[in-house]
Amino acid sequence: MEGIRLVFLGPPGAGKGTQADYLKEQYGIEKISTGDILREAVRNGTKLGKLAASYMEKGELVPDDIILSLVKERISKLENFVLDGFPRTIIQAEGLDNILRELKKDLKAVIYFDIDDEKVIKRLTSRRVCPRCGAVYNLITNPPKNDEVCDYCGTALERRKDDNEATVRNRLQVYERDTLPLVDFYEKKGLLKKIDADRPPEEVLRSILGLLRNDIC
Ligand code: ADP
Ligand code: AMP
Repeated sequence: MEGIRLVFLGPPGAGKGTQADYLKEQYGIEKISTGDILREAVRNGTKLGKLAASYMEKGELVPDDIILSLVKERISKLENFVLDGFPRTIIQAEGLDNILRELKKDLKAVIYFDIDDEKVIKRLTSRRVCPRCGAVYNLITNPPKNDEVCDYCGTALERRKDDNEATVRNRLQVYERDTLPLVDFYEKKGLLKKIDADRPPEEVLRSILGLLRNDIC
């Protein structure tokens, strides 16, 4: 497996984290999720966590310079990775280009998860997460085996603070304003691969693997 360096781009709730977890489980490709990193900082009550929480609770973006330094630190150690939820602005995308240039590495593809707003609102308001091991469920499409406890570690599942409908709607507006321009940015670089994310997870995975077939097998 040579240089599988991917960006997963798409609205919140499109299934990026779910697919990145599959790639980690099945192929050992590391996931770098800026959302996960920030939530851990919030849980640990660090200075970064306190600052990030004020943005995350409202569904606003954490400042670009903070995000770029988090990613830079992690990316430099990895050969294969999926960036999940990063970049989210043109400034972050340009920053990523600079980081990769310094490392003499490049992106293999940017996979754009295409799905309607109303579908993601439904998915996010029924998402549940395990606060202990990070497993992600959905009460409608991917419920845990036992009532709202994690299949892997038995911990009571939680709803993310920002998964209420009002905050989700704001996150979608922020996505449209700040992140959607990246579709054009990466299309111009010839890196964009669009997939239909409004299908069962196994089918979405099959499409992603189809795009990577020659590199993974
Ligand atoms: P993102 O990382 O893009 O915000 P997630 O991977 O957390 O999205 O998925 C959002 C919610 O939708 C979760 O509850 C997850 O279980 C569910 N989900 C993920 N992929 C699919 C899919 N293909 N079909 C239906 N539900 C899905
Ligand atoms: P996510 O887990 O990707 O849905 O992100 C949850 C929240 O974390 C977002 O609504 C933002 O407040 C913050 N966040 C995550 N990634 C980024 C990023 N790349 N840039 C800015 N803020 C981010």
